[in-house]
Amino acid sequence: MKSKPEASKVKVASPKKAKAKPASPSVKKDEADKVPALHLPAGVLLGAHTSISGGVSQSVPRAQALGFTAAQIFVKNNKQWFAPALAEEEIKQFRSEQKASGIYFFAHNSYLVNLASQDAQMFATSIKAMTAELERAEALGLPFIVMHPGSHGGAGEEAGLQRIAKGLDEIVKGTAGFRCRMALEITAGQGNALGYRLEHLAWLLENVSDEKRFGTCLDTAHLYAAGYNVKTREGYDETMDQVDKLFGSRRVLGLHLNDSKVPLGKRVDRHEHLGLGEIGIDCFKWIVQDARWASTPKVLETPKSEDMHEDVENLTKLASYLR
Ligand SMILES: [Zn+2]
Ligand SMILES: [Zn+2]
Repeated sequence: MKSKPEASKVKVASPKKAKAKPASPSVKKDEADKVPALHLPAGVLLGAHTSISGGVSQSVPRAQALGFTAAQIFVKNNKQWFAPALAEEEIKQFRSEQKASGIYFFAHNSYLVNLASQDAQMFATSIKAMTAELERAEALGLPFIVMHPGSHGGAGEEAGLQRIAKGLDEIVKGTAGFRCRMALEITAGQGNALGYRLEHLAWLLENVSDEKRFGTCLDTAHLYAAGYNVKTREGYDETMDQVDKLFGSRRVLGLHLNDSKVPLGKRVDRHEHLGLGEIGIDCFKWIVQDARWASTPKVLETPKSEDMHEDVENLTKLASYLR
């Protein structure tokens, strides 16, 4: 993944050289190999999903160290239904650090929530859990939380969508006055997952009681796996025209920039590094150059190691296309 020789807008600071040859083997290797931070132009909102390990407030220095200008976080362990309440101190710390950093943070919900479930208990628990997540996101001052619409479990798409709308209305009722919105994400359409058609998202926006509380989130890997051919210029334009027609790019609150490990229309959700998957790099270039998405926060959800150097590599690539 060599960067192009032409001038790029991203200046990557040269990695710090170890001051002296470490005499002691106890010196951490990662100190010398510190990942250089990005230097993104003002106004560009780019980053990656960022870990909250050690507490939500820890996500801020993590994103800041790499030069992100946008970041997505979970507001709790995403593999559990419920979590102990956020401590006041933790909320305060997150809010003040986030403000100072200027990074645009938003949330993603737990994968357990399924508002399309026909099972009464699962449905009720999903409403309760999503409400709790929204409460956390609101407390943290986050503008929106991305959520997958749900999986109908064999009941059929119509029944599933009806159920989701009903669940979303319940959540809105329980969170009256909240500023934090819910962004319904396009999905790959794996199994019985709904939301793999832009029409599903449009239908939900039209059929919830208070559409102001909602937006959408587009994920390139999901779009492609769902059959939207964003790999070609023609397919990209067609897809985004549909977005414009169905609900408008203004309703897209965030973008997930992921390449796809699976071919077009395969309906499986597997993310790959930008340019190394089935979509290829062009789509990402078009997105960062598309005026429609100029002020939309864009984050990666691609594989990464603890030092997140892969994110910096992917983002450096993306930033080189900014103009
Ligand atoms: Zn996504
Ligand atoms: Zn995905």
